[in-house]
Amino acid sequence: MSSANARALRLNLVDLLRQPGTERTISLDITHEELGCALSAAQATILSPLVVNLRATSSTDSVEVVGSIVANWNGECRRCLRSVDGVSEMRFDERFVPAASSLGIFDEADITRVEADYIDLVPPVREIVMIDIPDAVLCAQECQGICGICGADRNAHRCDCIIEDTDDRWAALKDLRLEE
Ligand SMILES: [Zn+2]
Ligand SMILES: [Zn+2]
Repeated sequence: MSSANARALRLNLVDLLRQPGTERTISLDITHEELGCALSAAQATILSPLVVNLRATSSTDSVEVVGSIVANWNGECRRCLRSVDGVSEMRFDERFVPAASSLGIFDEADITRVEADYIDLVPPVREIVMIDIPDAVLCAQECQGICGICGADRNAHRCDCIIEDTDDRWAALKDLRLEE
């Protein structure tokens, strides 16, 4: 079921802890399908395999994994619908300890407990990617969007349409006032 790439994201926790100071590097291209990423419809599409570069270093009681994940993506500007390409460079930095370890009991946030004899990096990598691939893409912060009346791309040219204030919150407020 799991691909060779997904298996390459596993580290033998027992071996690493047995030899403190051991370093392992993982460099691979992996598709978001192999990672099992389920992006929402609002999110950009990941274009090419993600580039993963991680380094694991063991100590006597934990394994620290640090590195980066890079993804190219394409999305549609939510205001003007123009196609937008982007790159997300994500930082990975996590510490893994055996489930039985007393390390970090008071500080769970920074530590991932591992039940198995190996660290599976697929879930934490997947989680970072799913959080980091943008939703609500904008071609530019100041994108003017498409005119709701004539359909013109207001980045390209100004139209003379007068856009009514259709903010629902204001409409609701007006209704309230009428009822008073
Ligand atoms: Zn736009
Ligand atoms: Zn217009």
